Amino acid sequence: MRRYWTMPRVYEFDTEIKEIDENRIRLKENFFYPEGGGQPADHGTISHGDMKGQIFDVQDQDDTVWIYSKEHGFEEGELVHAEIDKYRRETLTRNHSAQHLLSAVFWDSFEYETSRALIELHETEIELDHNPSLEDINEALTQSQELIQAEIPVTSQFHTSASLNDVKLRGGIVKGQSVYRLVQIGTIDLNPCGGTHVEHTGMIDTIAVEKISGKRLKFTTGIDARNLMIDRLMLTHQLSRDLAIAEEDILSEINRLSISNKQLQKDTMDLENQYLQLQLNHLDRTDLDEVTLISGTVRKLERGVIVDHFSDLSPSEIAVITTTDGGFVIISGDESQLDRLMPYLRDEGIKGGGRGTTVMGKNTNPDKELIQLVKSYFQRS
Ligand SMILES: [Zn+2]
Repeated sequence: MRRYWTMPRVYEFDTEIKEIDENRIRLKENFFYPEGGGQPADHGTISHGDMKGQIFDVQDQDDTVWIYSKEHGFEEGELVHAEIDKYRRETLTRNHSAQHLLSAVFWDSFEYETSRALIELHETEIELDHNPSLEDINEALTQSQELIQAEIPVTSQFHTSASLNDVKLRGGIVKGQSVYRLVQIGTIDLNPCGGTHVEHTGMIDTIAVEKISGKRLKFTTGIDARNLMIDRLMLTHQLSRDLAIAEEDILSEINRLSISNKQLQKDTMDLENQYLQLQLNHLDRTDLDEVTLISGTVRKLERGVIVDHFSDLSPSEIAVITTTDGGFVIISGDESQLDRLMPYLRDEGIKGGGRGTTVMGKNTNPDKELIQLVKSYFQRS
């Protein structure tokens, strides 16, 4: 039987160092909670005279609780005063208990099973066995908050494997223990657990969901949850003020904005394409030895518009369209012409590729101007 099971509110105690094994210490009496059941280990200190050790980890190994101190130099048989980091333990206890409650509500009301739980100092995560809807999450939080306000006692039951057969549990159990501990929240939940828990649900205070991603819910409790809710409230006020609309209309306004934004994007793209079309109608034509070069710089390369525009180039025409940031499209009426041109351009540091009569790419050589390079290629031949 663990002391932190029956006396979970002891944060300070005097005891003796029973054993030191390399970097780990065993106390004669221990109230430090070792990492386990998804709950992280306690932190704290032990001290003897001027010697103080920061306890940064506690582990249950070989059926014994071992504490790990940053400072070494303690000796076996020494009397020590131990202090458990109360803020850390109480926060983890609260988060852990909230996880029991939320998992129980999800199971009882919606038959969502909790497949994984991760308890941390500032947030806790549960993973359900399937994606919950926003409505179900909202309902589960409302029910949990009602159960928190009802201050339902959280108690422990201790069982042998024989007496375990008579109880109905949420969650699986690891067989082969000398004593089984079940944690009970009134008539709501009975769950095998070795962690630390609040005395009644009221001590959870508040549960606030921080993030929903698929089956996973991240939440905080207590003062952290209240702070999160205040932040959200302020955000809502700010949105309401900035958008000059009532808070209850924010959601429908965001939907409306999102739809009109999509329409605006489409309109903008149509305009840009029309502008590109205009620019393509006014390109330079230069007669070189073997081809006519159609060239110019445009604001944006929209492949579809450009390829359409040059769909009927003759074999003796080649179009080179660039942008000011180095992007380019080359279209030729004669595919084999491009096959000869591209190796020459690549040697000059022009990177590009494509299929058939069209090559797209980027000129990464600031000293070379693509249109000039193409001109000199066709003039030298
Ligand atoms: Zn628990």
